[in-house]
Amino acid sequence: MEITYNRSLPVKYDVDVFVAGGGPAGVAAAVSCARQGRSVFLAESFSAFGGAATTMLVPAYMTFGDGENFLAGGIGREIYDKIRIEAPPRFSRYCPMSIPVETLKILYDDMVTDAGVQYMFHTSLIDVIVENGKIEYVICAAKGAVFAVKAKVYIDCTGDGDLAYYAGAGWEYGDENGRTMATTLCGLWTGIDWSRVKGPDSRRLDDAFADGIFTNEDRHLPGMWRLMEESKNGEGVSLPNGLGGSNAGHVYDIDARESASLTKGIVKGRKQLLEYRKYYKEYLDGFEEAELVYSASYLGIRESRRITCDYRMVLEDFKRQAVFEDEIGRYSYNIDIHSPTNDKAGYETFIKDHTSLRYKKGESYGIPYRALTVSGIENLLTAGRCVCTDRYMQSSIRVMPGCYITGQAAGIGAAVVCDAHSTDVHDADVHEIQKRLVNMGGYLPNYRD
Ligand SMILES: Cc1cc2nc3c(=O)[nH]c(=O)nc-3n(C[C@H](O)[C@H](O)[C@H](O)COP(=O)(O)OP(=O)(O)OC[C@H]3O[C@@H](n4cnc5c(N)ncnc54)[C@H](O)[C@@H]3O)c2cc1C
Repeated sequence: MEITYNRSLPVKYDVDVFVAGGGPAGVAAAVSCARQGRSVFLAESFSAFGGAATTMLVPAYMTFGDGENFLAGGIGREIYDKIRIEAPPRFSRYCPMSIPVETLKILYDDMVTDAGVQYMFHTSLIDVIVENGKIEYVICAAKGAVFAVKAKVYIDCTGDGDLAYYAGAGWEYGDENGRTMATTLCGLWTGIDWSRVKGPDSRRLDDAFADGIFTNEDRHLPGMWRLMEESKNGEGVSLPNGLGGSNAGHVYDIDARESASLTKGIVKGRKQLLEYRKYYKEYLDGFEEAELVYSASYLGIRESRRITCDYRMVLEDFKRQAVFEDEIGRYSYNIDIHSPTNDKAGYETFIKDHTSLRYKKGESYGIPYRALTVSGIENLLTAGRCVCTDRYMQSSIRVMPGCYITGQAAGIGAAVVCDAHSTDVHDADVHEIQKRLVNMGGYLPNYRD
């Protein structure tokens, strides 16, 4: 059964640029654009900016640089400098950048507010009105109101490509069988005696499998990250709380585009986390007194729609360390495709790609502006994990520093388009975008003034 539903809506915001989604890409897009003097409205479904790092409790940043150069210059650098003071490198176990989640939430609140971005939490983009290939309005649902937003340029930073999807743009999803990387419900832990912890966390999985601890025998365990406990004058101070953030346990066959599937996934993820609690406490030194304090309020989504834009980044671009004339940044994280299936073959493919498809120091690939300009829609850009790629490139560019790079480029791109009294993102002055990115600290070694 279907019904037709008509109603009049207020146009609550009339701005230069609308950004959907306030994860790393959305914050970078909104802040960089507003700092160019453009009016921006940012709609975020949840109650904090940060996306995966806050709502999904992902505990660590992957690389900001290529070992020689800082690639996520600009917005990424600002955040890096601030967070690094809060979480000195020696306090994290595997990664120099574990995430102090409350600090990050407030940092984002301040950055967005100080830039003059208008924003609202608890506000979801739910529809788009397109006329002749141009977005005229988007529809948002907030607590107590459904309203329209009018903008000149729109940026999709939803991670799932919701805005582009509602606008009728093209997209790809998953592998040849429509399967995406498995999801993970992350968690926050306390009571870990980090002085006795030795990695890797997967080392006693076989024993636990033999003892029937797990309902799924999942060989891929990214593990527990040591989270920052306190800082004083930029120096870390260890408290006895033993905080940790887990990236443990895949939930398979979840469709990030549908609430019904996400619901099933988070229910399963919560039960599965209890199995990991047992594993950590009973099998690994240092975790005997560990407690799971809180599981994320959103299932961790690694992969969803990849939006069709004017250029599709592919594995060959990674291998040849591509250079583009319209380059808006470079990035270097290795190929990291978590298997969509829980079997030996899937895990072995992950390991093979993860270890062979990685760069040496100083190597990186270029990101063209055209990978952000959504095909067939005049005034739509995208950034973050849903930019136009194949699955290999998505698995690299999806990590947070990569999302800062594409987010800020989309924000600056939108500002340049507005400054030219245009709405056509496909016809933007790319040289001007590059110039502004360099001025704000972006890493564009192939740019010539
Ligand atoms: C389990 C897991 C582990 C990971 N590990 C790491 C890691 O160690 N290091 C690393 O750097 N990266 C890691 N990543 C990847 C990284 O966190 C994400 O790919 C990255 O955050 C994507 O950024 P984004 O801004 O594109 O999307 P997201 O971070 O997903 O943010 C999207 C935002 O848009 C909002 N939104 C969605 N739809 C709408 C809508 N319709 N209307 C309004 N708002 C909407 C969401 O609430 C969210 O805040 C991991 C990811 C997962 C899931």
